Amino acid sequence: MADFLKQEIKFLPGVGPKRAELLNRELAVSTFEDLLYYFPYRYVDRSKFTTVRELNAEMQYVQLKGKIVNIETVGERQGKRLIAYFSDDTGVIELVFFQGIKWIKESLKLENTEYIVFGKPSIFNNKINIIHPEIEEAAKQEKKIGSPLQPLYSTTERLKNSFLNSKAVYKLITTLVQSIKTPIAETLPESLIKEYRLLPVHDALVNIHFPGNWDLLQKAQYRLKFEELFYSQLNILKLKKRRITVSNGYVFSKVGDYFNNFYKNNLPFELTNAQKNVIREIRKDLGSGKQMNRLLQGDVGSGKTLVAMMCMLIALDNGYQSCLMVPTEILATQHYNTFVKFLQGLDIHVELLTGSTKKRDRNRIHELLQNGGLHILIGTHALIEDTVQFKNLGFAVIDEQHRFGVAQRAKLWSKSDTAPHVLVMTATPIPRTLQMTAYGDLDVSVINELPPGRKPIETKHYTDALRLKVFGEIRNEIKKGRQVYVVYPLIKESEKMDYKYLEDGVESFLRAFPPPGYVISVVHGQQKNKNKDFSMELFVSGKAHILIATTVIEVGVDVPNATMMVIESAERFGLSQLHQLRGRVGRGAEKSVCILMTKDELGNDTKKRMRTLCETNDGFIIAEVDLELRGPGDIEGTQQSGMPCDLKIANLARDGQLIQYVRGIADKLLDDDPMLEKPENILLKKKLHGMKKDMTNWGDIS
Ligand code: ADP
Ligand code: MG
Repeated sequence: MADFLKQEIKFLPGVGPKRAELLNRELAVSTFEDLLYYFPYRYVDRSKFTTVRELNAEMQYVQLKGKIVNIETVGERQGKRLIAYFSDDTGVIELVFFQGIKWIKESLKLENTEYIVFGKPSIFNNKINIIHPEIEEAAKQEKKIGSPLQPLYSTTERLKNSFLNSKAVYKLITTLVQSIKTPIAETLPESLIKEYRLLPVHDALVNIHFPGNWDLLQKAQYRLKFEELFYSQLNILKLKKRRITVSNGYVFSKVGDYFNNFYKNNLPFELTNAQKNVIREIRKDLGSGKQMNRLLQGDVGSGKTLVAMMCMLIALDNGYQSCLMVPTEILATQHYNTFVKFLQGLDIHVELLTGSTKKRDRNRIHELLQNGGLHILIGTHALIEDTVQFKNLGFAVIDEQHRFGVAQRAKLWSKSDTAPHVLVMTATPIPRTLQMTAYGDLDVSVINELPPGRKPIETKHYTDALRLKVFGEIRNEIKKGRQVYVVYPLIKESEKMDYKYLEDGVESFLRAFPPPGYVISVVHGQQKNKNKDFSMELFVSGKAHILIATTVIEVGVDVPNATMMVIESAERFGLSQLHQLRGRVGRGAEKSVCILMTKDELGNDTKKRMRTLCETNDGFIIAEVDLELRGPGDIEGTQQSGMPCDLKIANLARDGQLIQYVRGIADKLLDDDPMLEKPENILLKKKLHGMKKDMTNWGDIS
């Protein structure tokens, strides 16, 4: 039986080589098994009928019962179509056919034949119609037995063009299921099936495609979600447990002079309680003898960088070097300056290494790194080049981790025999369900508190019609001595996308805010580094009133005197990205404002994004809404995380409770049988082994 399901899809009757290639390319279906696991996205209850009077174009699939009262062919050539006027007791609508006109015309019977029509209503010339409905004589359909729940399968434009629509996929799956001779082998241990009252896999797979009734459908869905989430949790937890039991870490046993002197003499403010707690958590990890692998989440401005720096001092107290890797040069430079300022007088050697570091400096840094003269290295991707060798890297920090791929992080490891302790910091809060899945192997710390005195950012949504008002507000802010960011999604005009762009924006801002009264600085990714640095410096030093930029300023840039941000074509950005962007303001003691500019007409999702931002400053709420609107595949970081987020049936936005539940089950099972060696767990071990190979090293990476 196992071999039966492993057959190539082209051998299924009705498929053949051409369709097989399409199915493979469009739906990643290449075997019988893949097809069997291609689940419907929706079900329509075919026992329910709608009346013509109730119809509106917003409805999904509907089913009607009535008669054809007239047929006519209209239009010429491409526009030629057949219109069948369909009536029930409540009204008449048009059924429209562009293809197969001759055949349909001959087969449809007028007069007293009752038909069942199934399709999606649309609107044309203010009248409701249904284009290419399924239509069948009522008498014939009622004779058919089987489930009233009809599955719908999503297919692509390409597939539809080759006549592989939902109905055709359904047919193929019917053929497949009918040729299954012996029950499909169970994929979960009997013990779990019994204890959690799950449907056997065979029944679940049959009912997911051919539900006997709603109740069985629900049971089938539950069983398949359970299995999917259970295996992903088992996999993640097993990796995590292996890291904890097997991989050794450096032991940082003491807190010494570097840390203590900094704390006593250099720290200009009280740490927040959240910061203290996180430092305590990390300290415990560092002394445990196990390699730390921790994710530090905290909203923008919550003081993560400072926490990371203080932990580096612990590393230094124990004789080890540290590094901080960030995604952009601007950010690296800024962090470097912050570190130098904070660590003044402590005799700590910090250096900056980026793509534009001069050869001479580079060589000097390489040498200092190897002889131990350099304590803390800050930089971009340049840090992971092969030529960069540490004497003893003990602690690595990665800021804004969603921009680094797993492979890049892994390279940091190869820099010492024992993997350094790793702290990954992100300001993009990761929803709980993602923490348990894509990031399930990391320990998580949270800074859920902003330093005192911060005022929440007031966010407003204006449409382009209010531009003059926005200019007025900017002028007021500058009059108060403050500075303003203006952010554009594009540098140049795009033919494909109707968004505001920076080049045009610079012109209109220069007109509205002319020199010499106003100074405008411009930063974007296509500038030479020299120019970028110069423009940035102009703004950081307070000489420029307005900084016009692209999202290069998204992460980390810290100018406390900037209290207003205007985001142009805000509809272009995702929710988390907008939140991240506006985090550039609200960094000083003054109240800050963020203005989201959009065009007038917006889709519902965009409206919801704008509303959410205006209503809350809580990054976690925003992350949850983002996940709900976009689905996990699009959330930054999941693609690179190397974990299987392409769940087939479970949904990270909706199945949070089930994830939590199966995580508990997997955890208990592994506590009881860590290597999965008990006879009842052999199946689990085998399945895990077969799961994606490319993720087996994940536990060692981040
Ligand atoms: P994050 O990296 O989380 O965005 P930073 O570490 O850059 O935050 O901190 C943002 C700003 O707040 C910095 O200017 C930093 O010096 C300051 N800061 C950090 N912790 C505190 C604190 N406990 N009290 C006051 N200010 C703080
Ligand atoms: Mg930061």
